[in-house]
Order: sequence, then structure tokens, then C-alpha cells
Amino acid sequence: MVVIALALVVAAAALSVRWLTHQRDTFGRERPFPYLSIGLLGLVAMGAAIPSYLRHQEETRLSAVASQLVGEPARVHCQTFGQTFTQLDGDLGFVRWGKDGVPEHQTFIKREQCGDLKSYLKSDKQHPNPDQVVAVHVLTHESMHMRGITSEADAECAAMQRDAQTAELLGASPSAAMDLARTYWQIDYPRMPATYRTLDCKPGGPLDEHLATAPWGTPTS
Ligand SMILES: [Zn+2]
Repeated sequence: MVVIALALVVAAAALSVRWLTHQRDTFGRERPFPYLSIGLLGLVAMGAAIPSYLRHQEETRLSAVASQLVGEPARVHCQTFGQTFTQLDGDLGFVRWGKDGVPEHQTFIKREQCGDLKSYLKSDKQHPNPDQVVAVHVLTHESMHMRGITSEADAECAAMQRDAQTAELLGASPSAAMDLARTYWQIDYPRMPATYRTLDCKPGGPLDEHLATAPWGTPTS
């Protein structure tokens, strides 16, 4: 879309230059400035550029949250409309690993989940819908991969213990953030494929990090 916007701006500039160099027609009459054509090109260029600008703003906001969760600068990319047709894996988000097996500090989140995160950001965050709960968790889950966790079950468990933190970083109140984390843990986690679940992920279990933000309550130690 940015390319289209730039092409339209170039076309508008070309029209202006053409008018400057051909201010009279073949009969010597003054040619009016092509306000209408240039104005329309400008409007369409803005229409093409605005979605990219808004997506960039959302990515910057989500990247700031991911960086907090990762502990280092991390970048969130929202899948664009064009990429919807090229990335047809079943994941809601993904992080690439390098050849050394170390995950990159950037993630790609699907268009739908980025849309849900956007609507969550705009809401009062008191009563997130089921899709918004999952989208907030996807951001946390991918951030856990960017922290270096490559196992899906481990990333899922670490993420569930930080979903409340993510929600708060996105602007939720502490109690609404904890409600969201509990909803994911109680409703969504049991429905996840087996590779995303482990019996070690439970209060007092080997993967319990005893964080105050864990959905199963206050730290036990
Ligand atoms: Zn994952």
C-alpha cells in the first residue's frame, strides 16, 4: 500500500510538472491548473497510506509491550492483508529460530489476532471477548519464544503466568488483567493441542515460577 501511495504522489507531482512546463495549449490558451486530478490523486494516496500508518502505530505499541516481556528490544509485526494469502500455517503467531536454534527477537502475528489486539486496546478492557483474551495470550506466548523458550508447552506455561502482566501493559486494571489471565488458564488452555500442554504446568508444579501474576493466585513461597 505504501508503494501505491508513493506511486500516486509521483503521479500528482508529474501532473504538476507537466502543467508548469505546458501552461498553454497548442492554441496559446492558458491551461488551468489540474486541481481536480491532483486533489483526487492526493486523496487516494492518503487512503492507501493510512492503513499502513495505523498498522505501524499498533506494531510500535505491541513491540513496546513485547520488549518488556522479553527483557530486550523485540519487534512485533502484524500480518498485512497481502500476507494473509502467503502465510497459510495454522499458528496465530510465530517466531523464527536461527540456525543456532536461538529464536529471533521479532514475531509475526496473524491479521485477525492483531485486529483483536487493536480492538482490545481501544476498549475499556473490563470485559474482553474470547478472541481478545486469546490475542493477548498470543502476544505473551510469542514473547516467551523471543525470550528463548523453544518448547511450545514451556512457552505456553510461562505465557499463562504473564498474561496478566501483558494485559496490564496494554492498559488493563490489575483486577481486569488477572480476570483475563484466569479466563485463558481455565477455558482456553485445556482446549489447546497436547503439544501445548504439560502436567508440569500447575500451581506448585515444576513450571510454576511463583509469580504474583500467575493465574492460579498469589505466590506460594
Ligand atoms: Zn509457540
